[in-house]
Amino acid sequence: MLAPEHPLVADLVTEEQRAAVDAYVDEARRTSEIDRLSTETEKTGVFTGSYAVNRLNGEKVPIYIGDYVLMTYGTGAVMGVPAHDTRDFVFAQKYRLPVRIVVAPISWDGSDLTEAYVGDGFMTNSGAYDGMTDDEGKEAIAADIEKNKWGSRTVSYRMRDWLVSRQRYWGTPIPVVYCDKCGIVPVPEEELPVLLPTDAEFIPTGEGSPLASNAAFLNTTCYKCGGPARRETDTMDTFFDSSWYMLRYISPGYAEGPFDPAAKSWLPVDQYTGGAEHAVMHLLYSRFFIKGLHDMGIVDFEEPFLRLFNQGIILGEDHEKMSKSRGNVVNPDEVVNGLGADAVRCFMMFIGPWDQGGPWSEVGINGVARWLNRVWDIVIREPDDLDNNQVDPQAVRDTTRSLHQTIRRCHNDLDRFKFNTAISSLMEFANHLNRVWAEASIDSATWRQCIESFLLMLAPIAPHVTEELWERTGHAYSIHQQMFPSWDDDLAAEDTITLVVQVNGKVRDKLEVPAGIEEAAAQELALASPKVKTYTEGKSVNKTIYVPGRLVNLVVG
Ligand SMILES: [Zn+2]
Repeated sequence: MLAPEHPLVADLVTEEQRAAVDAYVDEARRTSEIDRLSTETEKTGVFTGSYAVNRLNGEKVPIYIGDYVLMTYGTGAVMGVPAHDTRDFVFAQKYRLPVRIVVAPISWDGSDLTEAYVGDGFMTNSGAYDGMTDDEGKEAIAADIEKNKWGSRTVSYRMRDWLVSRQRYWGTPIPVVYCDKCGIVPVPEEELPVLLPTDAEFIPTGEGSPLASNAAFLNTTCYKCGGPARRETDTMDTFFDSSWYMLRYISPGYAEGPFDPAAKSWLPVDQYTGGAEHAVMHLLYSRFFIKGLHDMGIVDFEEPFLRLFNQGIILGEDHEKMSKSRGNVVNPDEVVNGLGADAVRCFMMFIGPWDQGGPWSEVGINGVARWLNRVWDIVIREPDDLDNNQVDPQAVRDTTRSLHQTIRRCHNDLDRFKFNTAISSLMEFANHLNRVWAEASIDSATWRQCIESFLLMLAPIAPHVTEELWERTGHAYSIHQQMFPSWDDDLAAEDTITLVVQVNGKVRDKLEVPAGIEEAAAQELALASPKVKTYTEGKSVNKTIYVPGRLVNLVVG
C-alpha cells in the first residue's frame, strides 16, 4: 500500500487503472491529514494494477494506494496485514482482498476473523516461521531479510515542525528584530533576555499580537546598524518554557545559565502529577526537550520524570463535570473564606481515591471542617491533667500500638497518593485518643508523644491549623521543617492475631491467638477447638500445614 503522493505511483499505475488512480490522488490531496488518519473516516483506496513480490514466499501482492498511508510517516509505503491491523482489515473487507491469518490467537479454532486480531499468538500460514511466537517470528523474518540484503531494520519517527509563535502577550518574547536595511537580526546574547513590557494591553484582540500595539516595545534600534528597527511581537508557545521549567525551578536565582548544574542532584523529577488531559501534551514536549538537551550534553538523563500520577476530577454536587452552563460550579475562594483553606484541602483529599476524584459535597466538607475543630479541641488539652489518674498499662500499650500502626499506614498511604485512607487512619487515631482521654487511662508523656506525631502526620494535609497547634503545644517554628514521624514494626504488631483453622482445606474455625505463636502451640489449639473436633474425630491427622501468623491446615484421613 502506497501513499497517494508516493513518487512510485506514477510508474506503477497501469493504463487500465490510470483514470481511477488520478481521480483518487486528486481527492486525497483535498483531504486533510487529520481526516485521513481519523478512525472515523472510511478507509478507501484504489488498485494500481501492479503487483509486488513478497520475497519471503515468492507470492504476488497487489499494490494499492490508500489515503490512510501518509508520505510524512515512514517511507510512505506499508505492507498491509489485513488479519492483524484494524485499518487493513476494514480495507480488505471493503475491497474483497484475502484476509490471511498469520498470527493465530492462542485459542483459535480455525474460523474466519470478524475483526483484526492484534494480540499475541503463534505464527501460522507462514512457511518456515510457523509455530514461532509472533515476537520470535518478527525477529526471524527481519533477520532473514537482512541476511539476504533485501532490507534492514530501522526506526521511523513521525517528526513534525512545531510552530512556536503565538499572538499572545503572555509568553517568552522571540528575541528577533526587523531592520529595513539588515533584515532579520537576532538579539545578541548579552542583550538577553528581552523582557515583556509591564504596561501592555495583554488581552488578545483577534488582530495579531497584543504587543504590536505597544509602541515602546515595538520600536527599537537595530543591533547591527543602529538604525530604526521593530521587535518581533509574537511570543513563544508556553510549552516552550514549561518543557524545561523543572530545570529552572531548582535554581531560580541562578544567573550564569539556564540552570545551576550543581542543583542537578534533584533531577530527574521523582514524581509528576497532573490532570491527564494536560499531562499528555506537556509530557510529550518535555520529554522531547530533555532528550534534546541530553544529546547536547546539557543534562545527563534522558527522561525528565520518573513517576507519573494523574489526579481525578472534582465533580459538581450533581456528580457532573463542573460547568457554568450546568450551574454546579463551586468557587473555592468562597469556601476557603467560610471554612478555611485547610478544610477545603482536607476535604479534597478525603473525597475519594486521588486518581478518581469525586463529587463536591456540602455535607462532606462541613463534616471535615467539624473534624478539624475536634482535632483542635483534642490537641489543646492540658496533658498534665492525665497524671492525676491511675494509668492503665494495657491502655498505654494499645495507644502506643495504635500510634505506630497509624504512622505506618499514614506514611505508606501518603507515599501512594492514598490521601483519603491516610486521613481515615488519622480520624481513627483521633477517636482512640478521645477515648483514652475520657477514660484518663494513659500518662501525659504517652499523650504528648501521640499528639506530636499526630500533628506531624496531619501537617501535609492541614498545613495551617497544624502550624498553629505546633506552636501552641510548645514547639518551635516550623512544623513543616520536621521529619515525618517514624514507626517501629514491633510496637505496631498486634498482641493477638486471628488464626484460621482448616480441615482438609476447608475453614472450620477462627481462633484469637497470641501474635508470636509457635507452630506446635498453634496446632495444639487448633486440635482442641470443639468446632474442629467434629471433623477430626475418629480420624488421624496425617499432616499439618502451618502459615505463621495466618493459618493451620489439618490434613486428616
Ligand atoms: Zn540594521
